[in-house]
Amino acid sequence: MAPTAPILPMTATKSESGPAPALWRGGWYRYARALKSPNKGLRPANARVDLIVVHSISLPPGEFGTQNVQRLFTNQLDWDAHPYFKGLRGLQVSAHFFIARSGELWQFVSCDERAWHAGQSSYRGRDNCNDDSIGIELEGLEGGIFETLQYETLAGLCAAVMARYPIEHLAGHEHIAAGRKQDPGPGFDWPFLQRCLAAPDRYFPEPGRGRR
Ligand SMILES: [Zn+2]
Repeated sequence: MAPTAPILPMTATKSESGPAPALWRGGWYRYARALKSPNKGLRPANARVDLIVVHSISLPPGEFGTQNVQRLFTNQLDWDAHPYFKGLRGLQVSAHFFIARSGELWQFVSCDERAWHAGQSSYRGRDNCNDDSIGIELEGLEGGIFETLQYETLAGLCAAVMARYPIEHLAGHEHIAAGRKQDPGPGFDWPFLQRCLAAPDRYFPEPGRGRR
């Protein structure tokens, strides 16, 4: 007599074809490594989060993989560890996200809250861009180029952010704080990001204002 065919638990098949896990838990992105920053606040009650701001940072500048950005954003940086850090002493800043050269993604502030990345800024006719933007830092040197792995993480992240928030603008720090900030600079490939997202031209900075 043939052995009885094993009965496969239906749940195994169902879970494989079931809904994908949620990308967000509140304002926290599932695929980011969470490290909470105290440098944050509430958004204004009527904030319409329609802007993604791209930055570049490395500490000290040009040195990658140091973990110093993570320390800075959590107020753990040793100001005396490097001469460059002395100029940052007491600085309380954060961004929602940081993308390392390896493409590894970190999140410091819920996207439902206000991170401190933009400073004095103005874009699409509104000041104080921290109120209603999401800040993404790329590990890199202002004006330098960025890694393919970073663009891959960035594109996936932007798509996820755009699925949750009514994003209609993506710009660099240099565009929202013109004359004061220059990051990420001419090495950042805006057309590549635009192609990844299949987003319209009107979402991006005007040609000649940072686009290659
Ligand atoms: Zn910046």
